[in-house]
Amino acid sequence: MKSPRFFAPEAAPGRLVLLSPDEAHHLRDVLRIGEGGEVVLLNGRGEAYRARVEGISRREVLVRVEGLEERESEPRFFLEILIPLLKGGRTEFLVEKATELGAGRILPFVSRYTVRTPSPRTHERLKARAIQALKQCGRLRLPEVEPPEELPRVLQKVRAERRCVAYEKGGLPLRKAFSSLPRDLALASGPEGGFSEEEIGLFQEAGFLPVSLGPYILRAETATLFLLSVWRYHSLT
Ligand code: SAH
Repeated sequence: MKSPRFFAPEAAPGRLVLLSPDEAHHLRDVLRIGEGGEVVLLNGRGEAYRARVEGISRREVLVRVEGLEERESEPRFFLEILIPLLKGGRTEFLVEKATELGAGRILPFVSRYTVRTPSPRTHERLKARAIQALKQCGRLRLPEVEPPEELPRVLQKVRAERRCVAYEKGGLPLRKAFSSLPRDLALASGPEGGFSEEEIGLFQEAGFLPVSLGPYILRAETATLFLLSVWRYHSLT
């Protein structure tokens, strides 16, 4: 049976690692692993290490890193996905899907028609969801999760040269936009209320190509999931 995985960014061979409160809680209180227990530590940068629990208290869990268990090579394709803040935990759901489907960087945004406004806890919650998804799905590289910000600010942070925005009022058929997958790509889709004309103008000024996802008006989370899935399909060679 595969050893349970925990996120420890500072994991390195031979090091004694103090788990974060969340990871310590998961190990001690949820999985009830005791001293001497064998675990795997993920540093989130492509390495997984064999490790053994060396000390457990109510407050702390100490784990000794033994050796490298697995290494994930650099991905050939890198996706930046811009996701709107959505109600009812759907943004958290999309962060989980983006992690499972291999996105490299997640940029949550607030725009004119987003219904949900970010709380001070939102960023932490989104990052925690990405870590949970990483531990569950076997991926070794943790996507960067940026803090939720206003759309114009988020557009300034996009790095990829090639960029597409799903626009419900129409654009290039998606298949044409994906004819040959570029190494770096940024994809965006809008909130429940869609994008204003002004916002789609901002996207175009920032070099985003409007693309159509077909004749139906998809829910915001359906559109993001569609983009993630099409990208993943093309990136799996
Ligand atoms: N409130 C709008 C729909 C918003 S749908 C209306 O009723 O017209 C939420 C987001 O999903 C949109 O901003 C867009 O990014 C994406 N989307 C939904 N359907 C789409 C389609 N057929 N083509 C392109 N993008 C679509």
